Amino acid sequence: LYTPEAAEEVFGVQAYTADSASALVRFEHVTKRYGELEVIKGIDLTMRPGEKLALIGPSGSGKTTLGRMLMTLEEPTSGRIWIDGESLWDMKDKSGRVVRANAKHLRRMRGSIGMVFQHFNLFPHLTVLDNVVLAPRAVLGMSKQDSHERAIAMLRKVGLADKLDVYPSRLSGGQKQRVAIARALVMQPKIMVFDEVTSALDPELVGEVLGVIKEIAADGDMAMMLITHEMDFARDVADRVVFGDGGRIVEEGPPSAIFEHPKSERLQAFLQRFG
Ligand code: ADP
Repeated sequence: LYTPEAAEEVFGVQAYTADSASALVRFEHVTKRYGELEVIKGIDLTMRPGEKLALIGPSGSGKTTLGRMLMTLEEPTSGRIWIDGESLWDMKDKSGRVVRANAKHLRRMRGSIGMVFQHFNLFPHLTVLDNVVLAPRAVLGMSKQDSHERAIAMLRKVGLADKLDVYPSRLSGGQKQRVAIARALVMQPKIMVFDEVTSALDPELVGEVLGVIKEIAADGDMAMMLITHEMDFARDVADRVVFGDGGRIVEEGPPSAIFEHPKSERLQAFLQRFG
């Protein structure tokens, strides 16, 4: 459904497509400024389909901003972000000129990405099942039965099949976060961004949430961007670790290289504190 050709047919506009479309995600010379403050200072980063990428670095280094830009919640100040060879923020108009993406284009692109945040943002007036069913019904237009089946399968995956009719206020923080994960998964995104999903949890609840994410990672196909301070978790789950500091990528490599043979002084110092 979500091919550039389909986009043209449905929306009368063409997505702006990259020459090399092999990467699932590509940040190309991306910068981000908030007023005078440049928080992302020129990032080039690619993710392959299915790749599990851990993003580590000190607080304020720009990790969340990268995730939010991928999710279209923030627009880069300069540079481009490509998903599956299509530019997030550009498309071609009918005469072939590259123009700024419209709301429809962004909505379609956003369909490839799921995000789970530090704070769960569940709807308090909806049951667990209805929280997960909402987007498939409203956004994908799925039937009640299909959406329920899919939602229940996801809730089973996160170990909450026995909580379908419970309201969020009755759940522990770990359970709430697992509902939030099911709610993102149910949309079957190509990429999931997990942004510090355990940092608001009591320590004894962290393990159950990381365990669920590990299982989803082991399932395979979905690419994951894991923004985390849990170094053991990053080491276990990630195919590749990216260490950012001060809005730049300082070092990247497989977990063994990053954690056992850090090259830069900044990464060495960071691991002393967190490792
Ligand atoms: P990290 O996730 O690595 O902790 P962030 O991406 O959250 O880093 O933040 C990077 C920098 O951008 C920080 O200095 C933060 O204060 C700043 N920042 C983030 N969002 C905004 C915003 N909406 N307005 C102004 N500054 C922001």
